Amino acid sequence: MKTLWMLFGVLLWMGTVEAEDRPPNFIVIFCDDLGYGDLGCFGHPTIATPHLDQMAAEGQRWTQFYVAAPVCTPSRAGLMTGRLPIRSGLCSPKRRVLFPNSAGGIPDSEITIAEALKGAGYATGMVGKWHLGHLPQYLPHRHGFDQWFGVPYSNDMDRNKKGPKGWDAFLDPKYEYWDVPLHRNDEVIERPTDQRTITRRYGDEAVTFIDANQDKPFFLYLAHSMPHVPLFRSDRFVDRSERGFYGDVIEEIDASVGKVLDAVRTRGLSENTVVIFTSDNGPWLEYGDMGGSAGLLRAGKGTTFEGGMRVPTIIWWPGTAKPEVVTDPGATLDLLHTFCSLAGVQLPADRVYDGGDLSARIRGTGASPRNSVFYYRGDVLYAVRSGPWKMHFRSRPRSGAKETIHETPLLYHLEHDPSEKKDLAQKHPEVIERLKKIAATHSTTLKPVENQMEKVLSR
Ligand code: MG
Repeated sequence: MKTLWMLFGVLLWMGTVEAEDRPPNFIVIFCDDLGYGDLGCFGHPTIATPHLDQMAAEGQRWTQFYVAAPVCTPSRAGLMTGRLPIRSGLCSPKRRVLFPNSAGGIPDSEITIAEALKGAGYATGMVGKWHLGHLPQYLPHRHGFDQWFGVPYSNDMDRNKKGPKGWDAFLDPKYEYWDVPLHRNDEVIERPTDQRTITRRYGDEAVTFIDANQDKPFFLYLAHSMPHVPLFRSDRFVDRSERGFYGDVIEEIDASVGKVLDAVRTRGLSENTVVIFTSDNGPWLEYGDMGGSAGLLRAGKGTTFEGGMRVPTIIWWPGTAKPEVVTDPGATLDLLHTFCSLAGVQLPADRVYDGGDLSARIRGTGASPRNSVFYYRGDVLYAVRSGPWKMHFRSRPRSGAKETIHETPLLYHLEHDPSEKKDLAQKHPEVIERLKKIAATHSTTLKPVENQMEKVLSR
């Protein structure tokens, strides 16, 4: 079914390409565990992010932009497929995709952004962390990317037993303490990855990809390994930031963004390239100074409070995206639809999608179609947002903490109270009832997960 659909996409594209201008290029720069409050343009007082600040000044700063889950793998699954991770099965710790020795990964039946755009003649490249399955059949070049340079999973996996135990390894990290492989497609070209230079090398690879593909439409997915712990930065950034080690890491990412945007500008591609900068989930607060900040948002990574799932997002498209602060809600789940809309690709009608097309809001001709957010932890719905209201059925105060089931749900008005401090449940029972109905309707769209991982694991 998927192959037929992709062939249909190519034919559709061949039929329309003459009548239209070249569709825009897309670059998604995706950080790992970067918090809502970690950029200058999102209010951090001492981390210097001049390139991102300029990108935001020239583009759109989205202040209510969400990810599909508060941890790495399901968040990435949502971005890549436009579907909540519960639909692809990439959601549950039971499925063990979070661990390097797992057998799980992205099912063949899912259609990634790269596959959707490839059907429309796009060159597709990935640089960075994948984390949707590390076995050969799950790697990015088997799921729509022409090429991949990066690591298969998080930089704290594959702990080398010779290194210090526990937290010590993270407080003074050496790259030899981990045994993370660096791939170029199927080939492991370095192990352990020298993580000190990884942010710089990802940026260089991104520029090489842009150079090689500047004459055709392209999609580049640049998924930084940083600032996920263990933190690393190259020599030039050591002791540079007033914020300390974590600040050094963010400032190197900022420099890399500057390099990518410069490559786009100097190749004359600015007006035909949409660049989106965002993060996969909130900051890992348990790591103290080595973790980031969610700013005024409550909690961080691993929780369904806003700090876990609302991420700092900038959309840059000179000449088309009017510079402004956008308070409409948006989500990484919307990027597949948005890109397909801008590229003239039709998505198949054989599955449920959880995203919408943000292109009218980006162009300034209409509102965001998103009016709800579903907050999952694993395969359990913890909270739902509709308009300004957010209701928690369950919550955890921090990553790894025990969950609390709220007999009377917690209710917050996020536009008045983005920090989720004042529970209004007693005052607005009618809102609780409305949100419960939205959650109930949502649950009717869920089917038991059809996922080959289950089959693989049960063998
Ligand atoms: Mg992450």
